Amino acid sequence: MKYLDEYRDSVGARKLAAAIARTVTQPWTIMEVCGGQTHTIVKYGIDRILPAEVELVHGPGCPVCVTSLEMIDRAHAIASRPDVIFCSFGDMLRVPGSRGDLLQLKSQGADVRIVYSPLDAVNLAVANPGRQVIFFAIGFETTAPPNAMAVWLARKQRLTNFSVLVSHVLVPPAMTAILQSPGNRVRAFLGPGHVCTVVGCGEYGPIADRFHVPIVVTGFEPLDLLEGVLWVVRQLEEGRAEVENQYARAVRPEGNPASKSLIEDVFEVCDRKWRGIGLIPMSGYKLRPAYYDFDAERRFAVSGIETQESAICISGEILKGLKKPHDCPAFGLTCTPQNPLGATMVSSEGACAAYYAYGRHLERNPSDALVPLESLVPLGSGKEVIR
Ligand code: SF4
Repeated sequence: MKYLDEYRDSVGARKLAAAIARTVTQPWTIMEVCGGQTHTIVKYGIDRILPAEVELVHGPGCPVCVTSLEMIDRAHAIASRPDVIFCSFGDMLRVPGSRGDLLQLKSQGADVRIVYSPLDAVNLAVANPGRQVIFFAIGFETTAPPNAMAVWLARKQRLTNFSVLVSHVLVPPAMTAILQSPGNRVRAFLGPGHVCTVVGCGEYGPIADRFHVPIVVTGFEPLDLLEGVLWVVRQLEEGRAEVENQYARAVRPEGNPASKSLIEDVFEVCDRKWRGIGLIPMSGYKLRPAYYDFDAERRFAVSGIETQESAICISGEILKGLKKPHDCPAFGLTCTPQNPLGATMVSSEGACAAYYAYGRHLERNPSDALVPLESLVPLGSGKEVIR
């Protein structure tokens, strides 16, 4: 296939769904790891054309959703300082912390700016030598190379007014934590395609072997996801637990050596707290000692952070695949994208936000489709979801 439309072809989608139905003989729960995959699944109603035996649950692969409340409060405290320009990608500005979000802080006069690349923040530091410029460096392995590049460049340019607030997280330790969590239902994964373009597939073999779970590294278009499900179901039915690469047009088994080398130079692995899940050992990146001068946590000591999550929010259970947005009593009622109570409603990649965006909050219960399945799957029609 050559063009994007071909990955959304309705005839191809139904053939894949039919092949899955012919293959499956028993119930399986499969987790898609990435928020982008969740978004496609809900947008195109892919979960609703699968046979009843195949259940998709939504994983922790939305970086905005899993950034800890402590880190958001730390960002809030640093951004409140009068001498700083605090830079972040746009979706982080609306994530609720204990004292509100960064957008509210901006409305109160703080110099909080949206940037589209960490290199924009480096340029801001060059242009504003009298101000401290901080970039909120969040994300999975996918965003680590540009963030590492920003720090590397800042050191090369001997900038003394640039630093990064690092809250990077890593996918493989999170998958391990999910498989070890009490009540785990996940029997296979659709692996994180974009993460693997950077780091390759090598870290997933040990997980597949140790827990006997198939892992199919999968892309983000409807036919990618259906093919990924088909490959996973074949493995499950045949009793295999291997790593396969459905997203071969983008992912090389070894990943991107230049990006890996840059990450290795700037970052080292550390323990990291995940929102809704808790501390996962060796699941994040922090700056190596050679780059400590660019560490905002060291430059701006923040104390007295006490956090409290919403008592009602079940996003942690959603991120572990134990529950779905419909199971939350606040979903679509007191919790909406305009008034999010938890992080999975804030980011467009979050499961709650995806369910809301495509109208599932209007359904009386999860099994009620708003419209016939044909309309929920506009594959190849060139139209957005029809409601
Ligand atoms: S709907 Fe809101 S409160 Fe409920 S789990 Fe999702 S983010 Fe949390």
